Amino acid sequence: MVKIHSFVVGVLSTNFYVIENENAFSVIDPGGKEAVEITTQFLEKGLKLKHVLITHAHPDHIGFAKSLLKLESKAKVFTHEKTPDILPTFLEWAELWNLPYVEITPKDIETLKDNDVIKIENIKIKIIYTPGHSPDSICFYLENEKILFSGDTLFKYSIGRADLPFGNIELLKRSIIERLYSLPDQVHVFPGHGNKTTIGFEKKNNFYVTR
Ligand SMILES: [Zn+2]
Ligand SMILES: [Zn+2]
Repeated sequence: MVKIHSFVVGVLSTNFYVIENENAFSVIDPGGKEAVEITTQFLEKGLKLKHVLITHAHPDHIGFAKSLLKLESKAKVFTHEKTPDILPTFLEWAELWNLPYVEITPKDIETLKDNDVIKIENIKIKIIYTPGHSPDSICFYLENEKILFSGDTLFKYSIGRADLPFGNIELLKRSIIERLYSLPDQVHVFPGHGNKTTIGFEKKNNFYVTR
C-alpha cells in the first residue's frame, strides 16, 4: 500500500514528499538540504529510491536533486521536457537570491511529457502538464489512489505566482481549470508549499480560480 510522507525543507519552506510503496520509494521536490538526510533515512530502512521527481525547476524545488543521485546511483531525476532550456536561468537566480542548490545539468535529467506514466512497483503516476507558474510545471497524479502533487500550480485557497521569469497568469488559470478542476472532487492535493487540500474544496473556496 502506498504511504505519503510530508516534510518541510529549505529556506522557502518547500514541501518535500516521499511516496513509499512496497520496498521502494520516490521523492518529490528535494528543495532543501534536509531532503538529503530524510532520503538517507529511507535508504537505511532498506527501501530502494526509484525516482527523484521535480514539479518544476525553481531552485526551491530542484535544489538538492543532484545530491540524491549520489546516494543511489540507479535513481534518476525526472522533470518536464522544457526544464533543460530554462534551467540555466533558474540557477542564475538561485545565485542572485542566495538560494542554496547543488549544480545540476541537463545530462542528469530524464524528461517527461504530458500523460506519461511512471511506476513505483504497482503504483502508477501520471504526468499532467500544467504550465503557467513556470513553463515546465507538471503535476504528479496517482489516479487509483486519488492523490495529486500539484507543485506551485495549485495551493490551498491560492495559486502559484505568475510574476517570476517565464510566468504566465492566463496559462496558469487555464491549466488549473482545464487539467486540475476536471479531476474528481475527492482527489487529495499535496501542494509545493503549505497545507494539503482537495480538488472539490478548491473549486469552491480558492481565492483566485473557482468553478
Ligand atoms: Zn516555483
Ligand atoms: Zn516553490
